[in-house]
Amino acid sequence: MKLTQLPDNPYLLLTPGPLSTSKGVKAAMLRDWCTWDSEYNDLVQVIRRKLVGLAEASQDDYTAVLMQGSGSFSVEAVVGSAVPADGKLVVMTNGAYGNRLAQMAQVLKIETQVIDFGEVAAAEADALQKALEQDPKITHVAVVHCETTTGMLNPIAEVAKVAKAHGKVLIVDAMSSFGGVPIDVPGLGIDFLISSANKCIQGVPGFGFVVAKIDELKKCSGQARSLSLDLYDQWDTMEKHNGKWRYTSPTHVVRAFYQALAELEEEGGVEKRCVRYRENQRTLVEGMEKLGFVTLLPKELQSPIITSFYYPDSPAFTFAAFYERLKKEGFVIYPGKISVADTFRIGNIGEVYPHDMKRLVQAVEQNLFW
Ligand SMILES: *Cc1c(COP(=O)(O)O)cnc(C)c1O
Repeated sequence: MKLTQLPDNPYLLLTPGPLSTSKGVKAAMLRDWCTWDSEYNDLVQVIRRKLVGLAEASQDDYTAVLMQGSGSFSVEAVVGSAVPADGKLVVMTNGAYGNRLAQMAQVLKIETQVIDFGEVAAAEADALQKALEQDPKITHVAVVHCETTTGMLNPIAEVAKVAKAHGKVLIVDAMSSFGGVPIDVPGLGIDFLISSANKCIQGVPGFGFVVAKIDELKKCSGQARSLSLDLYDQWDTMEKHNGKWRYTSPTHVVRAFYQALAELEEEGGVEKRCVRYRENQRTLVEGMEKLGFVTLLPKELQSPIITSFYYPDSPAFTFAAFYERLKKEGFVIYPGKISVADTFRIGNIGEVYPHDMKRLVQAVEQNLFW
């Protein structure tokens, strides 16, 4: 089959990434690039500088490192490169992504303490305070900003305050929030912030990135437990060779990401995008609540990224049938990911607007079949 024009998407992705992207982002992928050519590497350098800007940080103190793979590869690169052999990591978790980070540390044989808040409570700075007082061996603290498992927005400012008061290195998995929720990275003292191409910046999947405090990144030299995921080496090569990645980079994805950054600027930046996401989320929840659906989390803990809803109280409801019906109507939603309750999730990030949320609620209303 010959593909001569951009096909239309049969449905909108209401998932937390990969998400629905703009036509511009997709069109940007329609040419090939040479990874050695300065035209491509200059683009990489612009992207790196823009990411530091989105983190509200100065280019003198912070840098951005891009890493091949999905977001988890970048998390693993940070965990495996930042914690020294005699270091100890404390991971605050309340969902699958916090758990995954802890699991990475364990696989890498890094001494790790896990503070588990369950699935529906926010990470608490007091618990970190206690852990740090009890164990002076702890050198690094890791926390997830938006725990995509539920849609919980963890209070990273409070966590950062405690971590910094004790002089610890702070790692934040802001995968599903960076670019969609303003984060004052230097103000909070975050040393390593991780996100990826296919979340709030609205690119396509293929690489992750780390915004790192340069002083802390320099300490990672020779520490990595993996060759491919050596964060320091990746940075060092990008610095010394004007944006060159160590191994083959996802060129089309990188070009699409450059376009996505331009579209973020056109929208008015992170704050404006956050306003749209909040409006999406509010429209969704108000509409769903009118239909009798109940959210898993109270509003105070809810992020503007993705929302978990309880299954309706009917034995005739099945997620599979609900999913298929909505898909036919042009919406793909997400299953739940927690053990304490039966839930499904609806994301509202990406090339998605309040009128899409209204259409979705109408589609749900027309499919209350149980
Ligand atoms: C998406 C996501 C990740 C990374 O997931 P990948 O599937 O590896 O891209 C990590 N943490 C959080 C909070 C996420 O939302």
